[in-house]
Amino acid sequence: MPSASRAGAILLLTLGLLAGCTPPDGGAPAADPSPSATASDTTPATATPTPAAPAVPAAPEAVPLPLAGLVIVVDPGHQLGNRNFPREINALVDAGNGGTKACNTTGTATDDGVPEATVTWDVSALVVADLRARGAEVVLTRETNSDDDWGPCIDVRGSTGNDRADLLLSIHADGGPATAHGFHVLLPAVDSPVHDDSLRLGEAVRVGLETAGIDPATYVEGAMRASDDYATLNLSAKPAVIVELGNMRHDGDAAALTDPAGQAVLALALVDAVEAYVVATPTGAP
Ligand SMILES: [Zn+2]
Repeated sequence: MPSASRAGAILLLTLGLLAGCTPPDGGAPAADPSPSATASDTTPATATPTPAAPAVPAAPEAVPLPLAGLVIVVDPGHQLGNRNFPREINALVDAGNGGTKACNTTGTATDDGVPEATVTWDVSALVVADLRARGAEVVLTRETNSDDDWGPCIDVRGSTGNDRADLLLSIHADGGPATAHGFHVLLPAVDSPVHDDSLRLGEAVRVGLETAGIDPATYVEGAMRASDDYATLNLSAKPAVIVELGNMRHDGDAAALTDPAGQAVLALALVDAVEAYVVATPTGAP
């Protein structure tokens, strides 16, 4: 125990230090804008030692994040600069169905001129952030949305995750008739080895979007379609879907697709769908 005189010296030293020092950890920041953080308020506090901060309780046993261990390919459709590289994006590539297709396309746009590439990029950014927050490792098929870039081609997009990914989510928005609206999901052909798992993923996406209040397409029966016409899907050896989030030529859909709040709703629905698919998969991973 220190003597009384020693305690007094410590108090004086403390007061001296406080007069010229920034607060120690846990003290009020110097720039605290709170009106109560005035000198007259802080002075008495030096005479009455601030109680020690309550001990931080021991962290509970860490709960694994729901998508921990998964590798997910997110494919933001098109690329802003595709329109500037017609030769490159018109080059033919393997379509995965015995034929060839153009490397890529410019994608569609709203009547106000917002390109599909930008919508898919913005929604994908939200999806990626949420997937990572839930523990997934995400591989993007493109890292930019730039007028100076093109591609990648659809064959590269489709095969990006074949070595180690668990699934592929390709994000697009459609350019349908102006009177039609709503989302729909495209699946690999029914004879594809990954059709069945892709169908389950697609169903999860359909349910997720409908649960979020997004209307299924009025122009695609059941809002789902399986086909061998999509190289991105044909060339994926892992469960894969293309989601057309809405019709960019429809006023209401276009407004939602280009509005940050609307994009956030879409992105959350997609990530919830991925999680629902994973949870429903018996092995815990596709
Ligand atoms: Zn597209």
